[in-house]
Amino acid sequence: MRIIFRNFHIIDAFTDMTGTVIIDGGRIVEVISKEETQRRAALEAGCGASRGLVFDGNEQLVLTSGFVDMHAHFREPAESSKLDDSNSLGFVKKETLESASLAAARGGYTSVVCMANTNPAIDNAAAASALKHRADALGLIRLYPAVSLSERMRGESLSPYLSEKSEGTSVYNPPLLSEDGKDIADDGLFAAAMREAAKRGALVSCHCDFGGEDAAVERAVRIGAGTGVRLHIAHISTKRTADIMSRQKKASAPLAPRTVQTLTAEATPHHIALTERDADKAGVETFGKVAPPLRGETDRLALIEALRDGVIDVIATDHAPHAPADKQGGAPGFSGLETAFAVCNTILVKKNDFSPQKLFSLLSATPARILGLSGRGFIAKGNYADIVILDTEKEIIVDSGKFASRGKNTLFNGWKLSGSVLLTLCDGKIVHHAAD
Ligand SMILES: [Zn+2]
Repeated sequence: MRIIFRNFHIIDAFTDMTGTVIIDGGRIVEVISKEETQRRAALEAGCGASRGLVFDGNEQLVLTSGFVDMHAHFREPAESSKLDDSNSLGFVKKETLESASLAAARGGYTSVVCMANTNPAIDNAAAASALKHRADALGLIRLYPAVSLSERMRGESLSPYLSEKSEGTSVYNPPLLSEDGKDIADDGLFAAAMREAAKRGALVSCHCDFGGEDAAVERAVRIGAGTGVRLHIAHISTKRTADIMSRQKKASAPLAPRTVQTLTAEATPHHIALTERDADKAGVETFGKVAPPLRGETDRLALIEALRDGVIDVIATDHAPHAPADKQGGAPGFSGLETAFAVCNTILVKKNDFSPQKLFSLLSATPARILGLSGRGFIAKGNYADIVILDTEKEIIVDSGKFASRGKNTLFNGWKLSGSVLLTLCDGKIVHHAAD
């Protein structure tokens, strides 16, 4: 279907203009200036109306590229025994592929990498491919299931995906491999996994919880040196780790022979907005619990500066939905997809003077580039029509009771934030349209 977004404020990592975006057949077919829009309108007035569905914009309505999340937990597959949250009505309350995908669309996300710490763990191409096909059939977002580094995520042997001899001919090649909350304890196996990942062109994301965040980052870089790995550090949370990243990035550029191929990192919306005081209030061992934990104000501010300077490359949600009973029992994580944009717009743009272009680089263009998702992450003729319409000034009050995600746990409940996701299109199809 042909859709015309007329006179919107088009902002992405590379563009800042008022103009019109025309999409057709799931692709962006034209991006034209306000002046050209006017010229054509005058022509069309003489020879009949423009064809297609037209959305009229204004200066306050921002059109940007769909967000790209390098790190979310969709909780599928899950064994049936884990499905029920012993809700009194007997409803299944756990996150599903459907609820998480809808949460992503509502949050403005069109491409999402979901982690492999599922039950059973996604350690082979067939399982990842099956999940991807289900997501494709839903038609809400583009899902890229991560595959684990080790078999069953046990850290004892390479995952079936990495031990396949015929690399490159797999039914599915994940853009990212990860052991999620743990790294591989055995140095030799970790190095072998990185070497095999490099051969397959996949990024390796390290959560770096092994032996403390700072030590784990240095260890991952040391072990990855010379393997050809493209290493990505998940959810950096401390000033010390940001400082280590800064040093490591300088040391590894430009591609010194005994280091990793590329080194990138992410920060989460909750780590740039919240501190341990917020965790204390909610319960450090229950509803305020997250891995890595919320830190001090100095750390929070250091993360913001690291994002500004490019030491940290992207924002990733680490969307980690849990049922209330599981949170009460100490399961770590927050539901993040539906608040990420408003949190980042408020904290980075409104309170810390980031330009909107920088924000959209962190949310879309840079993660798309790191993952190697060609044709996604920015607005350009020929790219996939992954489009978000935002009201960046609109105030919202967070109410997780209204989340599409079944994970209702967020410390932002009741917060007043700036920024609303009005419309999301993935591959040219409308997948979210705000009710009001
Ligand atoms: Zn995670």
